[in-house]
Amino acid sequence: MKIITIFLSLFLCLFGCGQKREATSWFTDNGKVKVLSTIAMIDDLVKGIGQDRVDSLSLIVGEIDPHSYELVKGDDEKIANAKIVICVGLGLEHGASLRYQMQKHPGGIFLGDEIQKKVPEKILKVEGETDPHVWMDISLWVNGIDAIVDALVKVDSANAPFYVRNGKRLREEMLAAHLQLQREMLEVSEEKRYLVTSHDAFHYFTRAYLAQGEDWEVRCAAPEGLAPEGQLSTQDIKRVVDHLSQYKIGVVFPESNVSRDALKKIVSCCGHPVRCSEYPLYGDSMGTQNYLEMIRHNVHVLKEEWTR
Ligand SMILES: [Zn+2]
Repeated sequence: MKIITIFLSLFLCLFGCGQKREATSWFTDNGKVKVLSTIAMIDDLVKGIGQDRVDSLSLIVGEIDPHSYELVKGDDEKIANAKIVICVGLGLEHGASLRYQMQKHPGGIFLGDEIQKKVPEKILKVEGETDPHVWMDISLWVNGIDAIVDALVKVDSANAPFYVRNGKRLREEMLAAHLQLQREMLEVSEEKRYLVTSHDAFHYFTRAYLAQGEDWEVRCAAPEGLAPEGQLSTQDIKRVVDHLSQYKIGVVFPESNVSRDALKKIVSCCGHPVRCSEYPLYGDSMGTQNYLEMIRHNVHVLKEEWTR
C-alpha cells in the first residue's frame, strides 16, 4: 500500500509539474508558435508535427466531456494567446461559448471539416447526424495532418521543411500502427467482435477494426447517442438488451468518462449472463496516454476480454 502511495504521489507530481510547465510557457513570448487544441487527440498531432518549434496546449483535459464543454475562467486568455486554434467540429464541441470563440478566431481550424473535404465518403451519419468521432479510426485521423502542417507553414514559413517532414513521418507511423492494430483485432474470432459501449463513439472504430465487410453497423451498439447526455429512455435500454441477446454478447464496455449506470442497468436486465468489463475504453478522452496508445489500449482491452 505504501509503495502504491509513493508511486501515485510521484506520478501526480510528475504529471502535475508537466502541466504547470506547459501552462507557464504558454504565456511566455519565446518565439514558438502557440497552438491551442480543444481535445488532446488533436494536441497529439500538433506535438508530432510541431515538436520543439511549437507550444501546444489542449483546452479540454482529463475526463471532461468535450461535447458539452463550456469555457471556464482562464480559457479566454488561453484562446486569445493562440496563433492557431484547432477543434474537431462536425458538431462535437457544441458548448455555445466555445463554439462562439472558435468561429471568431482568425486562426481557427475545424479539423473534422478538413477531413470531410478530403474524404467525404468516409464520414458517417448516425440517425441523420454527422458522427464527429473521426479520431477513432487512425487511417481517417491521418487526413487531418495536412491541415495542421499548412497552418504551421503559413505562420512560420522558415520552418516549413521541418513541419512537412514531420507530417510525412507521423502519417507513416500512424498508418503502420493502424494496420498492426487492425491485424491484431481481426485475430479475434468473428462471432466475438460485437462491441457495446456507453455512447455512440465507436462507429468509426468498429468499421476500421472490427468488421471486414459492410456488416460493421450491427457490430456496435450503445444506449446513449452521439453525445452522452444522460437522458435515457426505457426503449434505449431495451434496444441494447435485445441487441445483446440477438448477437449472444457476453461483455459490455464502459467508457472512461461516461457514467456506468446505463450499462449496469442493461446488464441487470439481460436474460443471459453479461458482465461489465473491468477496464474502461477511451472514447472522448485519452486519459494520460498519447493518441496511438489510446487506440492501442482499446484494442488490447477488447482482445483481452473477448479471448478470455
Ligand atoms: Zn462522444
